[in-house]
Formats: sequence, C-alpha cells, structure tokens
Amino acid sequence: MVGTEEKVVEVRNLFKSFGDLKVLQGVDLDLHKGENLVVLGKSGSGKSVLIKIMVGLLKQDSGSMIVLGEDVASLGVKALNKLRLNIGFSFQNSALYDSMTVRENMEFPLVRNVKNLTRKEITMKIEELLDSVGLPQSIDQMPSELSGGQKKRIGVARTLILEPEIMLYDEPTAGLDPITCIDINNLIIQIREQYNTSSIVITHDLTCAKMTGDRQAVLLDGQFKAQGSFEEVFAGAEDQRVKSFYDYNF
Ligand code: ADP
Ligand code: MG
Repeated sequence: MVGTEEKVVEVRNLFKSFGDLKVLQGVDLDLHKGENLVVLGKSGSGKSVLIKIMVGLLKQDSGSMIVLGEDVASLGVKALNKLRLNIGFSFQNSALYDSMTVRENMEFPLVRNVKNLTRKEITMKIEELLDSVGLPQSIDQMPSELSGGQKKRIGVARTLILEPEIMLYDEPTAGLDPITCIDINNLIIQIREQYNTSSIVITHDLTCAKMTGDRQAVLLDGQFKAQGSFEEVFAGAEDQRVKSFYDYNF
C-alpha cells in the first residue's frame, strides 16, 4: 500500500441532499497520509459536493467529515480558515484572476495569509513553485497569454504556495487535449513526491485515474461501492456501470 496507516481524511456515513435530490447517501471514505486517492463517478454523482463538505463550503445533513483530526462541520470561522490553509483546493476551472499577472495571482494567498514574509522571500517562493510546475518564464504574463494546460499548472502552483498537507484536484484534466492531460497527470505525481502531500483527484478520465491513483474509489448511488487498485476495481468489475465506465474510456 502506498501511504501510511495515518488518516488525514475520514468520512463516515455521510448524507447530503438538496431538497428531494439525494446526492450522498452514506459515504465512507479514508484518505491515508501520503497517498493519491482517485474519486471516480459520472457527472452529477456528488464528487464536488463531497470535497466542498471537506473544506466547509457545504454542510452535510448527517454523518461525519474529519479532516486532519478536525470535525469540519463543528468548526467556527477562525478554526475553519486555519484548517483551509492546510488544504489546497484546485478548482474545476483554474480560477486565476484575469486582471492580475501570474506573480500577482500567486502572491495573493500569501499576502492574505502569511504576514511576515519579505518581498524577496515572496518572490523566491513564487519562482521555486513556477520552476516546479515547469513555467519559470511566465511570472509576468497575464492569464490570457497562457494555454489551458499552462493555466492549470499556475493554478496548481498557486494552491501549493501555502504548503498544504492535502491537495484536492477537481477534474484536473477536464477540457485539456490528451497530451496536456498526461503532462498534468505527471505534475500531480511529481507534486506528491516533491511536497509530500496527500491528494484526492476527482476525475472521470480513466487515464488520469490509472496514472495518478494509488487507490480508486467509485461513487455510485451516493456511496463508494467499489474501492481498490485500478485492476481490482475495473478488471473484476461486477457492477455493469463500473464496467461500462471502463468500456467507454478504453
Ligand atoms: P459532480 O459529481 O459532477 O461533481 P456535484 O457534486 O457538483 O456533481 O453535484 C451533485 C448533484 O448535486 C448535482 O445534481 C447538482 O446539481 C447538485 N448540487 C450541487 N450543489 C448544489 C447546490 N448548492 N444546491 C443545489 N443542488 C446542488
Ligand atoms: Mg464536479
């Protein structure tokens, strides 16, 4: 098994509905320290809702969500903000500010959250991270000058600037061409090695799942019914929907 026994996220019997729409229906899931866990599921199955509950953007109806030892739903504003500093949330779109340069986009979270850094330290940190994502030359560019894949990389670099313990990637390869997808998958693998993060990668791209995941979890009918290695989940899949997920992708 990749990762340790230590759990950085523990989800137990989690339920969430929106009116009559039942989304999460008794979710159990663990993320171990140091592992890359892939969460698969068709559009609308509740993948984003799950990670929004993880970072306190939504509240569950019942069940528990423990992140880095904290019961997220019970935290006040201050404690929640402190916890969020340890979670890098890479949004479905890269969510860069279009009117700011790459440097300004990247220093934004730092200036807001870390008060005692000098100009020089901030620049060094930004340069180091742009180096890690392979875009050292883009520091003074505007987002509009970057390709989709480059924006994704900058988004990931910005997320890493606060040195989070957990990274959440919500559909990191959506809308990218196949070659750029592979680049982003490699970046996710590299980030784990380099920064020792524990990650959840949400995707419906099976190439991304296979490349980045130490473990796969498939969300079906509001629960993780299939969990295990890529081979365990897909080679012996009995559920027709898990099978068709595979057949459709390969
Ligand atoms: P996905 O697996 O594609 O990420 P989501 O988690 O975004 O799916 O959404 C799951 C379901 O919950 C969808 O049907 C979506 O429309 C619904 N939903 C998500 N957020 C809200 C919300 N804030 N209010 C009402 N319905 C929502
Ligand atoms: Mg989503």
